[in-house]
Amino acid sequence: MNMQDRVKMKVRDGDVRKEDFLPFLLGYEKEEAILEASRCLHCKIPRCKEACPIHNDIPDFIKYIKDDDLENAYHTIRLRSSLSEICGTVCPHEDQCEGACVLGIKGESVAIGALERYVSKWARENGFDKEEKKETNGKKVACIGSGPASLACALKLVKEGYSVDIYEKDGFVGGVLTWGIPSYRLEREAIKHKIEILKELGVSFILDQKVKDLTRLREDYDAIFLGIGAPDPNHMHINGEDLKGIYQADTFLKAINMAPLENGRRHFEACGERVVVVGGGNVAMDAARDAIRLPQVKEVMIVYRRTEDEMPACKEELEHAKEEGVIFKTLVNPIEFQGEGCLKEVVLAINELGKPDQSGRRRPVDTGKRMTIEADTVVLALGFSNDKTLGDNTDDLDIDKWGCFIVDDMGRTSAKVVYAGGDATSGASTVVKAMDAGQKAARAIIEDLS
Ligand SMILES: Cc1cc2nc3c(=O)[nH]c(=O)nc-3n(C[C@H](O)[C@H](O)[C@H](O)COP(=O)(O)OP(=O)(O)OC[C@H]3O[C@@H](n4cnc5c(N)ncnc54)[C@H](O)[C@@H]3O)c2cc1C
Repeated sequence: MNMQDRVKMKVRDGDVRKEDFLPFLLGYEKEEAILEASRCLHCKIPRCKEACPIHNDIPDFIKYIKDDDLENAYHTIRLRSSLSEICGTVCPHEDQCEGACVLGIKGESVAIGALERYVSKWARENGFDKEEKKETNGKKVACIGSGPASLACALKLVKEGYSVDIYEKDGFVGGVLTWGIPSYRLEREAIKHKIEILKELGVSFILDQKVKDLTRLREDYDAIFLGIGAPDPNHMHINGEDLKGIYQADTFLKAINMAPLENGRRHFEACGERVVVVGGGNVAMDAARDAIRLPQVKEVMIVYRRTEDEMPACKEELEHAKEEGVIFKTLVNPIEFQGEGCLKEVVLAINELGKPDQSGRRRPVDTGKRMTIEADTVVLALGFSNDKTLGDNTDDLDIDKWGCFIVDDMGRTSAKVVYAGGDATSGASTVVKAMDAGQKAARAIIEDLS
């Protein structure tokens, strides 16, 4: 075996998988995982561990996989990660652990994410991920929101004997994991199983409850964790944005990802045949890949104002979208949506690249040239902002100018017994960082209430 080449994980072909919403990554078989694990060089200073946001003991768990000792491999990962199957599947590994792997300098990095997923899925399917809890200590904590930040916080607390209630504004649990990340990228079983574990440990989920004010909760609970994410989609503020057929990414993704799975397919009748997705991040990729799976859709085009090199989406995601037939049109930006009541056309400004801006990426500059494309559906994937309601309604709870709760490095806010973490404190970010913040805040709560 050439140590520079990865053992490729089996993936369903783009042409086949774009017909359904079933998982497209097929994962490793035992022999493949052992072979891939044996590529790890076990560097003296493991750069992968340093680059992992939660500093997972990567060389250690890989060594256990090599020895086919999956129980110890799982326990090594579980020390730092309560959502390891989810992180193994959706973390942007190329920018984190895998991006730092020494093997990646001359060849392909170790497939750390795929190995983490292999072990964690094995633990779930074989009942090795059971959690124990200490005797109840009589203290109550409310977690607001049910995304990865709150789930991780709740899990740590309930195991320590705290009574935990999770308040969720939507009628389902999981936050972006459930409504945003499509089922072909993240198996629903992985999320449902975690939620079942929490329920078995005694965590209550109070759904359809948008928390707007903390007064009563501060009387009823010993501590409150705010894991409300960054829920407000950004707008373009251009003519025609209110035409029928134009959706914000969250509305579009929720409509499709929460639709029932029937013979592997999901349906969203209100989507048209020609779909234009505006944006170049992972949310745009998910919206485009969802759209292309709808039976009525004939064409999906992503329009982005810079070039592919500047796109914030993971390169892997971009390639997966292309394999499924998504068309990319770069250096264009919508300046008007046209139609009478319903969307018919998108007017695009044609850009060229100028000098780098503050982000270090070359700035898009309008050339003055225009082009028009036909579309009956547009999805705006322009990022998300924070909700300032709780900050505005709570005198002693400080937020920054973007509406993020201001916290110390353990998630303590300015308000007594109120903690926060995840996208609610960082702005739109990643699952692993949200989970980490939830775990840290739980540690702070335990320390402060002891
Ligand atoms: C489409 C999409 C795809 C993504 N793909 C990836 C990916 O592949 N990999 C990755 O690492 N990251 C990805 N992300 C980012 C990642 O999902 C988020 O960073 C992460 O979910 C943040 O977790 P959280 O718990 O802070 O917030 P969320 O997951 O947003 O959860 C917040 C929860 O709080 C609830 N809520 C909000 N306000 C209130 C309130 N006032 N009262 C009660 N409940 C409330 C919301 O309904 C929601 O359920 C993606 C994001 C999106 C939108």
